[in-house]
This record gives sequence, C-alpha cells and structure tokens, in this order.
Amino acid sequence: MDNNVIFNEADIGCHLDNHRGHYIQRDVIELAVGYGYIIGGFDQFVINLYESHSHYEDYPHEELTELCDAAIEWLNSGQHECPNCNEGIDPRDGDYWTHKDDAEGIKRCKRCTGTGRGPRIPHQNFPPLIPHETQWSFNDGDFGLYRDEDEELMPA
Ligand SMILES: [Zn+2]
Repeated sequence: MDNNVIFNEADIGCHLDNHRGHYIQRDVIELAVGYGYIIGGFDQFVINLYESHSHYEDYPHEELTELCDAAIEWLNSGQHECPNCNEGIDPRDGDYWTHKDDAEGIKRCKRCTGTGRGPRIPHQNFPPLIPHETQWSFNDGDFGLYRDEDEELMPA
C-alpha cells in the first residue's frame, strides 16, 4: 500500500484499458487497494477467487460491481478541504489530537487526521491526490483519470 502517491497532469488518461474485458472491475478494485483503499477479508477472498470462479453461476458479480463503484467513489474522495477545520488545525467540532512532543499543543482535526482534506469516507485512508478538475471514471470501457469536462463531452 502506498498512500503518499500524488497524481499530476502527466497521469491524466487511461490507466486500465478495455482489453481487460470483464476483468476490469476486479482490476479497478485492486488498483484502489494498491493506493490504500481498505477492504475486508471477505471481499479480498472473493476477489482472489475471481480468476478461477467468475464463470460460476453463483459468483457474486453484483456485489463485485458495488465494491468497484465504492472503490471509485473512494479514489475521488478527499480532494477538497475538510469542512471541519482550517488546513487540519482547530477543528470546529472540538475533536482533536496533538503530537506528544508538540510543546505548543496544536489542536489537529481528528476527522481529517490533520491533513485538512475532505470529504473523508469513514474508516478509510485518504486516496492519492489527483489534479484539480479531474476524476477517476470509466470512459468508453477504459478506466482512468480524466478531466471533468471529458465526461460532459462523452455521452454516457
Ligand atoms: Zn479537518
């Protein structure tokens, strides 16, 4: 897991191309997990079985689609300012922590762990930062990081 990655302008474009066919949802989830998205052991087990069992009639495809959607929502979260503080400090809800060796006792916002980022999906890490006005999405069967206006130009 590496959640210190920051995507920049050079990363805009396709990250998983449509030649993956039906594997792309699984691969999107694994991409998100690689950047710090937390999934439970049960979900991980089902993903691990995808290769050998996805053709089974009772494979949980619908749940995999839901997990993929949640992974994309996570990848796009935390790209704005935390509504609860000023750049990670002095949380309005009073819920704070301090560094143990911080003599000044600066009150850091718990909701965003002092990062100043929001909105945060509860019980999750923050995803990598992405450039302004971009988002992770499907585009013509590919998956990648695209400018917001790309989606408006492309009919769904
Ligand atoms: Zn905050």
